[in-house]
Amino acid sequence: MTSSLDRPPGSPVPRRRVDYESELNPQQLEVVLHPGGPMLVLAGAGTGKTRTLVYRVCRLVEDGVPPDRILLLTFTNKAAREMLDRVEALVERGARRVMGGTFHSAGHRILRRYATLVGYTPRFSILDREDAVELMGAALAQVSPDLPRRRLPRGRLLVDLYSFVINTGRSLDEVLAERAPQYLDQSELIASVFRAYLERKRAADLMDFDDLLLNWLLLLRRHPEVRQELATRFAHVLVDEYQDTNRLQADIVDSMLGPERNLMVVGDDAQSIYAFRGADFSNILGFPERHPDCTVFRLETNYRSTPQILELANASIVHNERQFHKELRPVRGDGDPPGNVSVPTPEAQASWVAGRILELRDEGLDLEEMAVLYRNHAHSLELQVELTRRNIPFRVRSGLRFFEQRHVKDVLAHLRFVDNPKDEVAFVRMARLRRGIGERLAARLWTRIAGAEPLRTLLALDPATVELSRSARSSLTGLQTLLDELASPRLTGQPGEAIRRVVEVFYAAWAREQLDNAGSRLEDLEQLALYAGGYPDVNTFLAEITLLNELSGEDVAGGPPDEMLTLSTIHQAKGLEWRAVFVIWLAEGRFPTVRAEDLEEERRLFHVAATRAAEYLYLVHPEMARDRYRVDVLLDPSRFLLELPPHVAEAIVVPPELESGALPALETGGRYDLPDFLSPGTDDEGSDDPVN
Ligand code: ATP
Ligand code: MG
Repeated sequence: MTSSLDRPPGSPVPRRRVDYESELNPQQLEVVLHPGGPMLVLAGAGTGKTRTLVYRVCRLVEDGVPPDRILLLTFTNKAAREMLDRVEALVERGARRVMGGTFHSAGHRILRRYATLVGYTPRFSILDREDAVELMGAALAQVSPDLPRRRLPRGRLLVDLYSFVINTGRSLDEVLAERAPQYLDQSELIASVFRAYLERKRAADLMDFDDLLLNWLLLLRRHPEVRQELATRFAHVLVDEYQDTNRLQADIVDSMLGPERNLMVVGDDAQSIYAFRGADFSNILGFPERHPDCTVFRLETNYRSTPQILELANASIVHNERQFHKELRPVRGDGDPPGNVSVPTPEAQASWVAGRILELRDEGLDLEEMAVLYRNHAHSLELQVELTRRNIPFRVRSGLRFFEQRHVKDVLAHLRFVDNPKDEVAFVRMARLRRGIGERLAARLWTRIAGAEPLRTLLALDPATVELSRSARSSLTGLQTLLDELASPRLTGQPGEAIRRVVEVFYAAWAREQLDNAGSRLEDLEQLALYAGGYPDVNTFLAEITLLNELSGEDVAGGPPDEMLTLSTIHQAKGLEWRAVFVIWLAEGRFPTVRAEDLEEERRLFHVAATRAAEYLYLVHPEMARDRYRVDVLLDPSRFLLELPPHVAEAIVVPPELESGALPALETGGRYDLPDFLSPGTDDEGSDDPVN
């Protein structure tokens, strides 16, 4: 391991248009100009790790590395797009040809090309989590039709366990012992459920998110010629947020390297917050062991936060035993002390936060420069109501993702099935919407159809032999006509029209009869059709949207207000920054959560939250909350507040009176509407972690 430079910074480099010396500090510049080989940048929050990556990509492109030979792996696809837009603006040289995105999206693009080598067709479909749970449920029923259900984990837990095994490379027994010890004695049976799940996926030409990584690695391991090809194709691999990679991802990256082994990873062990999903920060701490010739760089100047905010963030993280000490020098001048805010109730919390946001706005901050962060998605509900009452526009980064809403999935199931007639999940979903067809009949139909007896043939048979009721039969005839139409080249080439057709012919009437909020759901579907209209064909559209994990309703429903406040789980706020940050629900049992198995990870999460703030940081805790039996219970302040030395934050106590009285509201044109998922009855299964 060395930290010297082959070429000292500042030595003349011919005709680069970006002025690296003035855009970067000497430590950052050293990273950007470093010739290559394995490189590790281990540095604290806000020190410019992401910025350094961007400038390194610029530098490589300027020095003649063809953009399509660079692979940039990031935490979200959006982050990659923003970074590459920046590169494009700086160098104006085909930076869009850089392959950038999450591990999953890169895996997807690579596997499309080599699918047959791992036992799939190039047109394989992607299963999202909800569909994976359903398919796992079917595998479970197949393996143990008569075992009492309570003795086995359900679909969702099985998918979690499976995913954990795949992503960490650990044995099933080990994972069970740690995460679901009550099922340890069932491990053999669980293994056979997993095998059945695997076979079903393969038979249906479906990959789940984990397969996008696993098959990528298998491809590299089992096909040396492909490995060679990819290693030559990608001359430089760069990874942001490396502390949250799992074992599988680290292995993939290591296997992608060419003879020069140009791999740059950046990260901060103090911000590792995905261990619960299999991330392993020993990837970053162990990087020098895996790459003994690597160069390690440190960045020690924090550009983001005021000294007061940094002091608080650091005073918290020192309570972790497993941590790697880092020096951080603030460049910003003094700011306000962070606020440690006690409010009587969750409603008062919402009211105080909204009020303070309006004050800050009067002081000159734009809503875009403010965010409210929380541990769990559900913690934002009172605030959403309050913001709506006060006419303050906001976006929810952690909301139920647009494409995971029931009505969207129902309609897309039709397109999916036409696109891939082996897709069992899509067929069952679609069939069950029809009159006269329930879960069991749908499953029975599938066994006939999957046995190569097309629906049409089935319908032509004598009603008595297929045992269909009159209503089921007429439903299926209608379905068949719709499917025929969807399969016509006119509609497979126009995904927007295909969606409209499903809605017109069937879904609009069905939704009005069966679902609440049918009006707004149908509006969503029209927005979806508009959006889909931008894709050349149904297959491309379906592949893209399955991977678009951050797309929320607002992105699709055009015409958002000019400025919006951001609401986000802390997990989703990684890597981002705002001038003012509010962290709410800082009460024991909420943050840290009751079920926090790993307190150090919770504390890192707190550290991530605090380090998102540039100038204003408010840590808010309600003193009381109503439980589900409508009883008021006292809440203890979060230990993350109690363990802070008193001088790092200013105590603000909000009296109960603040709850009532006339509320200041944002003066703008029209009133901001209640978001759909807040309206009663919409099924909302939003999770607090992104599938990246
Ligand atoms: P995190 O750990 O939170 O991901 P990071 O280390 O990636 O943070 P960046 O997001 O790259 O940090 O940078 C933090 C802020 O500091 C950004 O606004 C960035 O533009 C700014 N910054 C970083 N380096 C410099 C510099 N040399 N000059 C001016 N601004 C800088
Ligand atoms: Mg960053």
